This record gives sequence, structure tokens and C-alpha cells, in this order.
Amino acid sequence: MGDTHLYNVLGVSRNASNSELKKAYHRLAKEYHPDKNPESAEKFKEIRNAYDILSNPEKKEIYDNFGMQGLADGFSPGGPGGFPFGDVLGGMFGMRGGFMGSRHRRQRGDDTTHHLRVTLEDFYNGKTAKLQLSRTVLCKTCGGAGGRGNVLPCRMCHGHGIKKTMRQLGPGMMQEIQTTCPECRGEGETYSDKDKCGPCMGRKVVNDDKILEVHVDKGMRDGQKILFRGEGDQLPDVDPGDVIIILTQIEHKKFVRNGEDLYYKHTLGLAEALCGFTMVLKHLDKRQLLIKSEPGQVFRPGARKVIKEEGMPVYRNTFERGDLIIEFDIKFPPPHFIGEPEIKELQKLLPEPPAISIPMDDESVEEVTLTEVSNSRRNNRRSEAYDEDHDHFNHRGSAGAHMQCAHQ
Ligand SMILES: [Zn+2]
Ligand SMILES: [Zn+2]
Repeated sequence: MGDTHLYNVLGVSRNASNSELKKAYHRLAKEYHPDKNPESAEKFKEIRNAYDILSNPEKKEIYDNFGMQGLADGFSPGGPGGFPFGDVLGGMFGMRGGFMGSRHRRQRGDDTTHHLRVTLEDFYNGKTAKLQLSRTVLCKTCGGAGGRGNVLPCRMCHGHGIKKTMRQLGPGMMQEIQTTCPECRGEGETYSDKDKCGPCMGRKVVNDDKILEVHVDKGMRDGQKILFRGEGDQLPDVDPGDVIIILTQIEHKKFVRNGEDLYYKHTLGLAEALCGFTMVLKHLDKRQLLIKSEPGQVFRPGARKVIKEEGMPVYRNTFERGDLIIEFDIKFPPPHFIGEPEIKELQKLLPEPPAISIPMDDESVEEVTLTEVSNSRRNNRRSEAYDEDHDHFNHRGSAGAHMQCAHQ
């Protein structure tokens, strides 16, 4: 059962008509008016609040479906008959069974789910997508009756709506199979051929294409659901179900999103990492961010720097933004890139290597050779760690994943 508190305050049932609500409110407001009885000021406020909500069709619908929490969450009908809900949708489904049973006697049709592929740019900038929807609607010609004149018991199922067929499983073993009667589609009655509605051929429904406008708001995210109430298939004597659009993000080539933050990977040359650099980062709204390192700054492989408030806009609070985090990779020069004389020069500039003393006369000292690790060996031994090392940024985009790799 849904929340009925507001109805209880006014002393009416959930099915009360507008005029019943109004009457109840006027009666109670008179009785509890603070002018008359200062002690009942709280009660009066409660009564007025209940009436404010229940007399407003929009608020009433939200309250009937989601209770006071729904109003507090600021649900608002959006789009043509639509209800953008976002993350709250999951919670809503749990409630549905209960209140639908009490509010609607009629059966409710199935919900229809569609996936809408959305780019990260669209989640960043916002977008209205048009989605063509094929569904059945009640036939306009017959108003969903299927025909005119007298309905007759279906000849195929003799009015039962169920077709029974016997199937022989083996010698002396019969199985009865029951299926919905194809002639009357389980209704048990049909019109005679001459009385059947032409456009729908007695089916009561026809196919219809509808364009839904899906508002992808700034800051919405992968997996978020947008609900279009009652836009599902129409069937006679059944309340149409909802159309649920699930937003699915297309992977971005450069940016990875993590909550409100954006991650961006950039590769520096060794000279840039040591001596400084200037780069231009093209953002999701096509702005070009000019980024300069501070003089003297040295970048290590895997270094992360943050640009504040250049991340994703926050859903429903788009003046706020997450951060943009840049992870730097350093591209080292190829082998034998530097000749002997340059190496000497470089050594003068770089920090001195640690001094070690080698006891050459000690018998336990043995000189060995460094060679390349073969690929097959590396794959066998630590294939997982190796793969992650290369791709962790794209897969996870989170600091945690990287730190784990680095310490392995
Ligand atoms: Zn028709
Ligand atoms: Zn039938």
C-alpha cells in the first residue's frame, strides 16, 4: 500500500473526487481554524498542507505514487507525459505492486525497455534525442471495440478463450496442451466477420509509430533511466505500461568518467617531463584548455594533476562540476638514442647515482648479464598484472586500480 497519511488527515478515501476533497477540507478548516482555537494551529497547518497537495493534480500523482518522499525528492513531470526519474526509478518499482493494486482495478500492461546510446559529450552538454517507438494503440475506428453489433461466443474455443489440444506422448499416454485461443485472443468472444472493424480486423488495436523526445540532461550518467509513463503498448481494458529508456554511454576515446570526475591520459616526452611543457586539451564542449607546467616541475610516469571544476556537470545542479584529472605517462627515448658524449653531459646535469663499493676480491661477488624478458615468460608468469599495467586506465579510470598495480 502507498502512503495514505494525507487522505487520513482529510478523512477521505484514496478514491475521493475533487469535490469530496474540497468539502472535507472546508469542513475541517472551519473546525480547526486558529482564530477559533489557537491550540489547533498545527493541526490546521497539516490540513491545509494535505489539501494543497491533494488538490494539485501533479502533486497528487507524485504523492500517490511515491509518497511524501517523492515530493521531497522534487519529482516533476517532464516531457510529454514523461517523468525523468534517474536513480530513484529502481526504488519505485518496489512500491508499484502495492499501490497499483489499490489504485487501479484494471490490469496493467508490461513496461517496455529501450537502450539509448549516448556519447560522453552528450552527457556533458545535454541533448534531446528523438526515439521512434513502435507500439500498439487502440483502434480509433472502433474505439477499441473490435467491431459493431452483437459479439458471438468464439467458435474455435466455444467461449473459453483457451484452446485445448491433445498430444500423444506414447502408447496410451496423452497430454493436454492449453493455449490462448488465436481466434479471439483469449477473450472467448468475437464479432462475426461482417461486423468486424476493418482497419484493425477485429484486433481492437493497430500498430503505431510514435516519436519520443528523450531529454538527456547535463550530468546524467550511464545506466540512468528515463520513464515515459503510460507510453507502452495500448490494449483493451488494460492500463498501458511505461516506456523506460536506459541511457548507455558509448566509451570515449580520450576521457573516462568516474562519478562527477573526468580522467584524461596524456603522454609526455622525456624532455617535456624533465624540462616542462605546454599542451592543449580539447574538452567535451570543444573548448581548448591551455595547460602549462610550472618551471622546474618534473613529471614522473603515472603522475596525476587535477584541474578543478573542469569535470562533469553535476546532474540537476549544473553550476557545480567535478574535477578533471590528468594522468601523465612518460615516453622514454628508444635504446641507443643518446651517444657517449651526450651521456657524459647528461650525467653532469642529473642527480648523481648512489656510490657503491664493490669488493672485487670477495669470492661471493659474481658478475651477471641483463637481457630482455621474453614475452611468453612474462605472459605465463604474471599475465594479469601485465595486462592491467597497460590498460588499467581505460578499464577502471580510478586511482585505486592504478595504485594497486604500481605496488604489485
Ligand atoms: Zn477497429
Ligand atoms: Zn476463441
